[in-house]
Amino acid sequence: MELVVPLEQVTVAVEGTDARFPVRRIYCVGRNYLDHIRETAGADEREPPFFFQKPTDAILLPGEDFPYPSVTEKLHHEIELVVAINKGGANIKAEDALDHIYGYAVGIDMTRRDLQGIAKEMRRPWEAGKSFDHAAPCSEIVPAEKIGHPDKGRIWLAVNGDVKQDGDLEHQIWPVTDAIAHLTTLFELQPGDLIMTGTPAGVGPLVAGDTVTGGIDGIGEISVNVI
Ligand code: MN
Repeated sequence: MELVVPLEQVTVAVEGTDARFPVRRIYCVGRNYLDHIRETAGADEREPPFFFQKPTDAILLPGEDFPYPSVTEKLHHEIELVVAINKGGANIKAEDALDHIYGYAVGIDMTRRDLQGIAKEMRRPWEAGKSFDHAAPCSEIVPAEKIGHPDKGRIWLAVNGDVKQDGDLEHQIWPVTDAIAHLTTLFELQPGDLIMTGTPAGVGPLVAGDTVTGGIDGIGEISVNVI
C-alpha cells in the first residue's frame, strides 16, 4: 500500500555556488522597526521582541511566481532581512550570536493583513494571516564569509517600480544579535533555521499582476510576480 510520499527537503540556493541550504524552520520577528510600529496603531514600542513561524514549505524560491492567496482582500508585502543559521544553540548570548550565522538573504513576509487584523482583535493565532502557502519568498543566501555581518544598509521594496518601503537595517529595534538572544530563550535553534527579522515602514497592498522587487545593500535583491 502506498503511503503519503515524504516531502522533499526545502532548500535555498547559496549564491555563486552549487550548494543549497536545507531549511528546517522559519522564525519571524514581529515589530522590529519603530517606523513600522508607528504605522500599525497601538503597539508598545518598548516591549520585548515576539516571534511567530511560517511553515518551511511556505518558501517561494527565486523565479517562482507568487499566487494571490485565497480569502483575503488585503495582501501586504513586508521586506525583511533573512538570517540563515548553521550552528544551533539555546540561550545564545548576543555577543556570541554572529558565530551561529551562515549567511543572509532578502525575504518578503507576505501577510494577509485583513486576517491578521481579525486575529489580533479576537486574540486568535496569526497563522491564517502569516503562515499560508508561498508566504515566504526568499532570495539566494549569501554567505557571511563573503559579505560579513551587515548591521546597517538600505532595505527597500518597490511595487511595479514605485518604492514603497525604504529603511535601514540600523533602525532595527532588536538587531540580529539581540533577536537571536531573545529567540533562543524560547526555542533551541538548529542548523537550517531561517530568521526573518522584521520590516520597516511602508507596508502596503499587492494585487495580481504586480511585480514586487526589493533588496538590501550588500546582500542582494528579490523579484516576485504576483499572479
Ligand atoms: Mn514581518
